[in-house]
Amino acid sequence: MPTSLARPALNGNGHATKPMDVEKLFGSNTFGLAEMKSRLPKAVYKRLLATIDKGEPFDETVADAVALAMKEWAVERGATHYTHWFQPLTGRTAEKHDSFITPNAGGGAVSEFSGKNLIQGEPDASSFPGGGLRATFEARGYTAYDPTSPAFLVEHNGSATLCIPTAFASWTGEALDHKIPLLRSMEALNTQAKRALALFDEKVARVYATCGSEQEFFLIDEAFYHERPDLATSGRTLIGAKPPRGQELDDHYFGSIPERVMAFMNAAEVELYKLGVPVATRHNEVAPGQYEFAPIFENANVAADHQQIVMMTLQRLAPRFGLVCLLHEKPFAGVNGSGKHVNWSMSTDTGLNLLEPGDTPHENLLFLFFCTAVIQAVHKHQDLLRASIATAANDHRLGANEAPPAIISVFLGDQLAHVFDQIAEAGKATESKSSGLLGLGTPVLPTLPRHAGDRNRTSPFAFTGNKFEFRAVGSSQSISFPLTVLNTIAAQAIDDLVSKMEAKMGKKKSKKALMEAAQSVIADAIREHKAVVFNGDGYSQEWQDEAAERGLLNLKTTPDALATLTDEKNVDVFSSYDVLSEAELESRKEILTEQYALQLNIEAATTGNLARTLVLPAAVRYLSELGEAAESVEDLGLDVSGTKEVASVVVKEVNGLTKAIKALDKALAKAHKAEAEDVAMKDHVIPALAKVRAACDEIEQAVPADLWPLPTYREMLFVK
Ligand code: ADP
Ligand code: MG
Repeated sequence: MPTSLARPALNGNGHATKPMDVEKLFGSNTFGLAEMKSRLPKAVYKRLLATIDKGEPFDETVADAVALAMKEWAVERGATHYTHWFQPLTGRTAEKHDSFITPNAGGGAVSEFSGKNLIQGEPDASSFPGGGLRATFEARGYTAYDPTSPAFLVEHNGSATLCIPTAFASWTGEALDHKIPLLRSMEALNTQAKRALALFDEKVARVYATCGSEQEFFLIDEAFYHERPDLATSGRTLIGAKPPRGQELDDHYFGSIPERVMAFMNAAEVELYKLGVPVATRHNEVAPGQYEFAPIFENANVAADHQQIVMMTLQRLAPRFGLVCLLHEKPFAGVNGSGKHVNWSMSTDTGLNLLEPGDTPHENLLFLFFCTAVIQAVHKHQDLLRASIATAANDHRLGANEAPPAIISVFLGDQLAHVFDQIAEAGKATESKSSGLLGLGTPVLPTLPRHAGDRNRTSPFAFTGNKFEFRAVGSSQSISFPLTVLNTIAAQAIDDLVSKMEAKMGKKKSKKALMEAAQSVIADAIREHKAVVFNGDGYSQEWQDEAAERGLLNLKTTPDALATLTDEKNVDVFSSYDVLSEAELESRKEILTEQYALQLNIEAATTGNLARTLVLPAAVRYLSELGEAAESVEDLGLDVSGTKEVASVVVKEVNGLTKAIKALDKALAKAHKAEAEDVAMKDHVIPALAKVRAACDEIEQAVPADLWPLPTYREMLFVK
């Protein structure tokens, strides 16, 4: 048990620090628009802007000029290397660093970074999962510059690296990453939403998905982390008895943030500001040791890159404060896990949020149209949404009374539910419940405008004012795939509704014809898809039963969810909108399935190892102490029954654990030979793991603290 905690000095000498100049700091380590404008020839800047703002093709003839400016900017700030920064299907980011300096034959060196280097890189694709997309003899993969996401500089001790966000594809052009499909889905959404807007006579150049994703995480003392092999190999504690005081007291949520954590949060905030990530709020979460960062929403592609930067930065900076940041969905059993709420909406280049209901949503046909499209999309593709968040880790959270259940439903809130009920019944809505003011019962406090809809924490997909919040996303995962699914299924639903409206209107172009067509299409869609709307308690057993009656899916585990990924309907929606080909979708299924089995394999191996090499020895040592004690007590002629009783309990526990380890080994060996390894892992290894854990946790509560070889939950969760 580690006793010395690495506690660094806080803010140097503890005096108040200088105020932070956020404006100057923000984006200072990104090659953003302002830098581009000041460093690029006017014509080049204009061409680049057309790509960034309007989605026009990147003009390769300007690449050299962009590369030169980018390099100068980076080198001035101490960069020695650059890397194409990409998102392989592992869900994390990858980088391969190249030097700006190329040695030449004469023994000197030249500084080199051309347009070619900027646009394309060639990492060895064979070290990243390809899921059958790439034959091993053709290991080539390409990274391609994404001009729509700003390049950024990561500073390390005295040096810096220029990171260039890139897409990653096989040499046949198939997407080997999460960025390409996301960008394609943004395009699909843009095309379909613009069709709808044209019908409603709204003139816009571009529609894009917006996203702000809230990140939950745990912080624990670094010393404890290094003493826990399970945290190192699998990101979560595989054994560990619950602390006597958990989160029952609810005193952690919004409680004051401990000093050391505060110092870390400040540092992370400064770093993220520099990288242009607009983090806005931070607070304690429900569980002890749990915190959250929430950024301001942005274009979904940029938000997905920024979300990776947030995870990277939290993990990179924590050790400076003697902390480790745990991003796993369920690092501690019996304590709330971590999620990532993906807030999503659609916005136009003119600044119109397509999911903004206004004060009288019943009159807002444009809003009703897009909101209906989302409801239809979610109802039709519950399986895809569930599959987009399916990982071994996230299975621990979903439906565990702390996160939404595996049933995908939509929460609308009182006001909207009332509007859509009217539409379903009468074909149109004639009133909206007003939100009103919230009086606090004393004249000294201001009256607050009340939100028209209450919050519902139990829904996986909730309307929250002017956006949807996909709350089932896991804390450690990339948000790119969930966003890709959302954009694609929304595009399909919008397409469907627009086509129906067009058919109804025929040649008629009047306002009245438009209104009638919209009302009737919306009403039909709502009637067909309202089964997915649920405003009640998603944690309750009644909902499980009711959802089944409504015919909603309840895909409880990752293998169940992933199995649906390549169903005909899903292949169809992805290929119709050119987001993922059937082969690309197959590859994702294969990789996700493989990762699930791999993760459980690691967990099983680590658990077996912990049990054998740490827990059993501790118990056996205790037994021998008890044995010696019993002998000497007996020698003194005293009653030894108590000691013997303790020993007999420990013996029973040791025997139980030994049996459980054997069963785990057997289950694992069987799973390796099974046809569907993931299903065998789910059906046999997970229950076997639970038994080993239970046996270990019993022993932890029996052996003396000084014989227990691992940091305990109490230490990890409450030492701040
Ligand atoms: P809430 O009170 O519902 O949590 P916040 O305003 O705090 O709402 O927003 C939560 C998250 O939702 C933030 O990350 C925010 O940037 C994001 N968000 C707000 N509006 C939008 C939008 N139109 N599109 C996407 N995300 C949004
Ligand atoms: Mg939220």
